[in-house]
Amino acid sequence: MATLTSLAERLLTPHGIDRYLELVDPLLVRSETRARVTRVEHQTRDTVTLTLTLSRAWRGFTAGQYVRVSVDIDGVRRTRCYSPAGSQHRDDRTIELTIKADPEGLVSRYLHRHARPDMVLGISQPDGDFRLPEPRPDTVLFISGGSGITPVLSMLRTLRDEEYAGRAVFLHYARTAADVLYRDTLTALAAESNAIDVAFRHTAEQGRFTSAHLDAVAPWWREAETYLCGPPGLMRAVRSAFADAGVGEHLHTEEFTPPALGTGDTGGTVRFTRSGGQMSNSGRPLLEQAEAAGLRPEHGCRMGICFSCTQVKTSGCVRNALTGELSAEQDEEIQLCISVPVGDVDINC
Ligand SMILES: Cc1cc2nc3c(=O)[nH]c(=O)nc-3n(C[C@H](O)[C@H](O)[C@H](O)COP(=O)(O)OP(=O)(O)OC[C@H]3O[C@@H](n4cnc5c(N)ncnc54)[C@H](O)[C@@H]3O)c2cc1C
Repeated sequence: MATLTSLAERLLTPHGIDRYLELVDPLLVRSETRARVTRVEHQTRDTVTLTLTLSRAWRGFTAGQYVRVSVDIDGVRRTRCYSPAGSQHRDDRTIELTIKADPEGLVSRYLHRHARPDMVLGISQPDGDFRLPEPRPDTVLFISGGSGITPVLSMLRTLRDEEYAGRAVFLHYARTAADVLYRDTLTALAAESNAIDVAFRHTAEQGRFTSAHLDAVAPWWREAETYLCGPPGLMRAVRSAFADAGVGEHLHTEEFTPPALGTGDTGGTVRFTRSGGQMSNSGRPLLEQAEAAGLRPEHGCRMGICFSCTQVKTSGCVRNALTGELSAEQDEEIQLCISVPVGDVDINC
């Protein structure tokens, strides 16, 4: 079979077999993973839930991980990270993404408005270290806010499929009752399992997170392995509750939004050698400086995890805005979103 395929590949040069398979069905291509939208649902006013069928190259994911989704918007390929919300044990090459439309965002608003059954998206293999440990902990607490529900719901659904016999509590925050994602799913999970309890809090009426909420739903929270994903305010408040209780090592987190990065030194010139642009170094990450110069480099998470914005720095020194590390090698790959120039820098962009 392998020989036949490579023979076909040679006969079909210069285009390769994928070029022809794509004409029959985009999901038949072998060199990359693709996804076809099979269902579109609007659970709340500002979210869209997409069921995707994946091409044969898909290798499966572990609950809590994310995928990079690519979509062409006005002729430009845009890539963003999304965390599947379903169980990792679902074995029908189908995943479910729930995407909140950022009022100022490009890709989330586009998918919210335009995603339709049969739309084909690019999709990466899964990535990320936000995962449940093996063996599963005896007590698990999940805390989510808004669209941050996706990776932790995936973990909970995975535990359900494993007939988890420990103790799990899922505490979900939304602004109002109308904003709660997956209410019926979570309620049904709690009803069908003695191990799972679920609680919802509506911040507009019931206030924001305090550790008293944890005392109320999971008095044992200080001993539990806890998985948290939500908006920055919730993440900050939960982190500080765990730090105050001296149990920060039990808290595992996933961030959807980039941290606010400070401005670095402003000396020097940034040259974008491929496009021919240049500007005085503003001290901001190179992705922002490129955008300020009118360029539109490929990017994804804007926080250094997805590597979509990797470009070659041909000369100069940059500082990693997250770690402070300097790197001054010639012709090295750097992530534009978290690299701040230190003096003159040339980027092949
Ligand atoms: C690991 C991971 C998993 C994720 N999973 C999910 C998920 O399951 N569901 C979900 O809804 N989201 C998820 N996200 C968030 C998602 O990847 C996108 O960030 C989100 O959908 C917004 O993308 P966008 O293209 O609509 O917005 P963008 O166009 O990227 O804009 C995002 C924000 O950045 C601002 N911005 C844009 N350009 C600039 C600029 N030049 N300078 C400064 N600010 C700018 C915008 O004003 C906007 O508020 C996840 C993120 C990560 C990192």
